[in-house]
Amino acid sequence: MPHSTLTVGSVEITVIHDTEVASPFSQSFPDVPAEAWAPYLERYPDAYTKNAGGEDSRRTHFECYLVRSQGRTLLVDTGLGTAATNPGTVTKMFGGVEGDLLANLQAAGFLPGDIDTVFLTHLHPDHVGWNITRDGGTESPTFPNARYVAHEADWSAFNTPKDSEIFGFDWWADTVTPLRQAGVLDLVSGETELTGELTITPTPGHTPGSMSMIVNSGGEKAFIMGDVFHGPAQVTETEWVFRFDMDSDQASKTRRDILERAERENAAIAICHHSGFGRVVKEQGRRYWQAL
Ligand SMILES: [Zn+2]
Ligand SMILES: [Zn+2]
Repeated sequence: MPHSTLTVGSVEITVIHDTEVASPFSQSFPDVPAEAWAPYLERYPDAYTKNAGGEDSRRTHFECYLVRSQGRTLLVDTGLGTAATNPGTVTKMFGGVEGDLLANLQAAGFLPGDIDTVFLTHLHPDHVGWNITRDGGTESPTFPNARYVAHEADWSAFNTPKDSEIFGFDWWADTVTPLRQAGVLDLVSGETELTGELTITPTPGHTPGSMSMIVNSGGEKAFIMGDVFHGPAQVTETEWVFRFDMDSDQASKTRRDILERAERENAAIAICHHSGFGRVVKEQGRRYWQAL
């Protein structure tokens, strides 16, 4: 899949695709009536598909972002991974669909050793999938020269054995605990500057420790958000509740706040489970996603 790059001042952001699945509306947004999707199917045809059973579905992308700033090379999220790197998630939640992050990273001109920082927007199993590589009995960080950064509230929320209570399978021991054991996990508790142009800021609700990256360079801005949004329809329908939002009221508030800020600051936005970059536009008093 071709990667796309956005330049924000002197920062370069490249989408690195891991994989894609079809997620039926009824599973992802059980409280939203089927007919409410009609205007979005018409407006964003590329965002939707039918699954194998013929149900209207979201095309759920698993995207990571390669960010270059002031001589640093950062990766935002590590995707779904493979049956070797993230076995419970890939086999039990996504039916064996595997990611291609490393191949796509290489196609974009980067090797795992080039990454100095991995920022994990949150610690859900589909954002940490390539954290760890196993070679025989040995496990090691896939990005050998990187510090991995995440919010401590997600560590507290999911730290084993709690992970298996949330989705019914374990992902923690395969993807997160080994980072701690290797001494490469930095847990933060609030807004944190990663470079002079990149700040990570709390955007809670989906999980208690969800964070987004604010890119601010040369008078231009972009927000790379984790699971604040699950597709472009939620840019308009901020109250639609995604099934795995842990605090749905807070998640809706975060969506409203970040959209107001994106509009005010004319920021480009990126959503991990939707492809490409967009901007917030207003039509007849309502906000919409507009692809760049
Ligand atoms: Zn999530
Ligand atoms: Zn996700």
